[in-house]
Amino acid sequence: MKDTASKEIWFITGSQHLYGEETLKQVAVNSRVIANSLDEDSTIPVSIKHKGVLTTPDEIYQALMEANAAENCIGLIAWMHTFSPAKMWIRGLSILSKPLAHLHTQFNEEIPWGEIDMDFMNLNQSAHGGREFGFMLTRMRKNRKVITGHWKSEAAREKLGTWARVALGWDDLQGMKIARIGDNMREVAVTEGDKVAAQMKLGMAVNGYEVPDLMQWINGVSDKEINHLIEEYEASYLMASQLKTGGGARAALQEAARIEIGLEKFLKNGNFKGFTDTFEGLGDLAQLPGIAVQRLMAKGYGFGAEGDWKTAALLRAMKVMGTGLDGGTSFMEDYTYHFGKKESLVLGAHMLEICPSIAAEKPKCEIHPLGIGGKADPVRLVFGSPAGPAINVSLIDMGNRFRLLVNEVDARQPEQDLPKLPVARVMWKPQPSLEIAASAWILAGGAHHTVYSQSVNTEFIEDLADIAGIELVVIDQNTRLREFKDLLRSNEVYYHVFEKGW
Ligand code: MN
Repeated sequence: MKDTASKEIWFITGSQHLYGEETLKQVAVNSRVIANSLDEDSTIPVSIKHKGVLTTPDEIYQALMEANAAENCIGLIAWMHTFSPAKMWIRGLSILSKPLAHLHTQFNEEIPWGEIDMDFMNLNQSAHGGREFGFMLTRMRKNRKVITGHWKSEAAREKLGTWARVALGWDDLQGMKIARIGDNMREVAVTEGDKVAAQMKLGMAVNGYEVPDLMQWINGVSDKEINHLIEEYEASYLMASQLKTGGGARAALQEAARIEIGLEKFLKNGNFKGFTDTFEGLGDLAQLPGIAVQRLMAKGYGFGAEGDWKTAALLRAMKVMGTGLDGGTSFMEDYTYHFGKKESLVLGAHMLEICPSIAAEKPKCEIHPLGIGGKADPVRLVFGSPAGPAINVSLIDMGNRFRLLVNEVDARQPEQDLPKLPVARVMWKPQPSLEIAASAWILAGGAHHTVYSQSVNTEFIEDLADIAGIELVVIDQNTRLREFKDLLRSNEVYYHVFEKGW
């Protein structure tokens, strides 16, 4: 996973010269205290750099231009300590290309009842200074995250931390290289899309490769490398007896290891952050990559099956956002329903490619027939996933815009064992119910492929949609179908009017 230590967020403070030098000195001291305090907080996984108090149009323009140009600056936090007349901000904000969070806070937590006088009032004007700044951004139609709360509060810091993580994901998306190995699964619609538009709106570059590009790496793998990786498999997983030394499918395990090593070399050599494959275009690959894809996802690579490059890029970005947080993030597919007497559930899985970052227990390493694709039986990791809140996210191309669709779900332990199911799996109850959620999902055009995450929640996806300037639609416990249909219709008008340059 990417090293985030070199990344930073700039903390800028707005003021003006009206109040005199003494006040401005205090503003500078206070803003440094806040910036340093945020810098030391591990909730925010990126260093916060204090960039001073901006009091003139030229200072503002200069600072924001420098932020744009600074490779390691992934976003800015702006705070209006006092009133900062916002026409001063127009020139700077009009060129700002980095994510922006407006921290609407003030230095003091409570009003000093016995002490408050006009000097105090002049120094602490965030309540109206933040509104002036906010008006300008809204007037300019600039997306940003607005966080209101005292800067010491956990709630405000968690929101900043979420936004900072999304800014890291956004930074990772810019110039992200996705290798699309083989084309799409034939005739499938939802995994298609406009790659030029995706690069313009989201930053990732998706380019095509073929299995022969991969085979030179796979064929070059040595027996020593294969044996070394199999030792790692044996130390990490419960091996099926056929896959053990002397077992009937040992050669298939060696082939799976060869594919994993070759695929990883191909990805590293090309500096790719994600990839897709397709079971209809496996060329000389002996088996559909199963354990290889699962383990590469766990290492942080994005993946989409059947040519699904949008999900591959989204998965990678969400893995970056969730780095270090509890819970995993995986490629997922709504596979089969359980229309239960008490409640209805979804069994999520894929043919093979579920990331072991969401495993609840030590995975089993198994081999079974696939039934489609016409290749040898693939080796895969089989496991269940822990109960708890999660989201499913789909990125779809609506023809004039991208839509991010989220469904909040509750992962459940399956009511009974599934002894014959040969793939990793998750059971979940969608919010507010399967009946409403699946109808809403289908009305919104959501894909069968998703990114499933227990580390990243809806707020992350909301921040991502705002930074990218794309549509967000959420299905949660408050979703009602009639209102949901109206939301889709009104969004249709909004994007018809405002979407530029598709
Ligand atoms: Mn699929």
